[in-house]
Amino acid sequence: MNYFDAHLHWFKDSAFGDRLAGALGGRPDIRYYEDKYRARGRLAGGIVMGNGPLEDQGRGLPEGFFYCLGLDEPDCVDHIGAFLPEIERHLESDRCVGLKIYPGYMPLFPHSPKMYGLYERLRSCGKVLAVHTGMMASLGGKLKYAHPIHLDDVAVDFPELKIVMCHFGNPFLPEAAAVMEHNKNVYADLSGLIEGPFRTEEFMEREKAYTDLLKLWIRYVGDCKRFMFGTDWPAVDCVEYGRFIAGLFREDEAEHVMFRNALEIYNIKEYFADERPESK
Ligand SMILES: [Zn+2]
Repeated sequence: MNYFDAHLHWFKDSAFGDRLAGALGGRPDIRYYEDKYRARGRLAGGIVMGNGPLEDQGRGLPEGFFYCLGLDEPDCVDHIGAFLPEIERHLESDRCVGLKIYPGYMPLFPHSPKMYGLYERLRSCGKVLAVHTGMMASLGGKLKYAHPIHLDDVAVDFPELKIVMCHFGNPFLPEAAAVMEHNKNVYADLSGLIEGPFRTEEFMEREKAYTDLLKLWIRYVGDCKRFMFGTDWPAVDCVEYGRFIAGLFREDEAEHVMFRNALEIYNIKEYFADERPESK
């Protein structure tokens, strides 16, 4: 099955990236990712979730790859006004498909009034708001900011804005599902539900209760078109993780989740008009 990775990170000079990639026996950079998954696999492209200085983001993206401009430096959200011209420059690029904010990693509620001007701008230019939700990758920060319930405020106040709840709020799954049920403009990427090396069959058997919970709350939302495959690479091996995520859905649903939904949600269908996902 062809797939599209709707949530990944590329790192340069990052101890965090090195540690994650090291656990998989690799490196956390573009070249390693492309060589391992693009050249030999069925990876059609992906969405890089930005980190670090704004001026460095979105550079040198290979064909098929797009990015969400990531505001993960405290300065950006503390003094959002000062960064608006730079943010605007990114939003004018076709490769920039949205904005990513990192509540929890930083003390920012997604429904903070100071962010609303930016959300209005995203709505008017038809780009996506991607939001970190759920557990953080390290013990720093405060979880209350990352709780998915706060997206209900944003979704209700901006019914025409597409909002992606990264990581499906895990482990706040019932709340994440409730927000999705209540707001048809909220989508979820299923990245980051596992970290480190694993084998799908063995994991699904050993962690059957967890796997069943994921299936339960996905089923509760009741619309496979609102879920996207993403890896949070270098957190996991993309091929193995693809088998895990596909395994949470029926086969006919998995085709949408692994490939087409992300193109629809991030408004990049036309770039892949010739690519038909293979059925096997
Ligand atoms: Zn991520």
